[in-house]
Amino acid sequence: MHIRSAEFITSAVKAAQYPPPDFPEVAFVGRSNVGKSSMINCLVQRKSLVKTSQTPGKTQLVNFFLVNECMRLVDLPGYGYAKAPKDVQRQWGPMIEGYIVDRPNLCGLFLLMDIRRDVREEEERILEWLVSRRMPVRLVLTKTDKFSRSAGMARVQALVKQTGLRAGDFILFSSKTRQGREDVWQWISSMTGI
Ligand code: GDP
Repeated sequence: MHIRSAEFITSAVKAAQYPPPDFPEVAFVGRSNVGKSSMINCLVQRKSLVKTSQTPGKTQLVNFFLVNECMRLVDLPGYGYAKAPKDVQRQWGPMIEGYIVDRPNLCGLFLLMDIRRDVREEEERILEWLVSRRMPVRLVLTKTDKFSRSAGMARVQALVKQTGLRAGDFILFSSKTRQGREDVWQWISSMTGI
């Protein structure tokens, strides 16, 4: 994908603050530190459009980025900060759920997981819920540069068994090597029609 422009539009804590649903959107969700900010920056070829390493306990925001003036990437708050105050942890679920349920222009979602970690209960629950809502979803295994290619493929096979998803539902991604960048854009194009 050739990126002509990428700009931060707004941060929101509630639906009333979302931009109008006038462009197709794809969203990114994952455990804190999974590499979500780095992935979005890699996709739009910017070093720090999305600020990395947010501190635990910070107000959780839904961030909107307009790309090529025709679609938006939506950065949903990271979950699973053990150190985050309970009220911050509690506000995560409804905020994400609210966005996913109420957004008519949401075309697909990337659920990110570190390739070195097993699927946890949280991811299983989110995945089941997304599938039950018929939300198009791709599982992105991040930081694949930490694994050899064959170890990466073996990991996908293990996760296929564990989750019941198809191998084609997974994307191997590294923001260091840019592995998977074109696969991600291809899926975004097919989902949004851009
Ligand atoms: P976020 O909290 O999900 O937004 O994660 P960040 O993008 O801030 O990344 C968390 C940490 O993982 C940082 O130290 C990044 O440098 C590192 N990281 C992110 N992506 C990759 C990757 O593809 N490969 C490697 N090796 N490290 C990564």
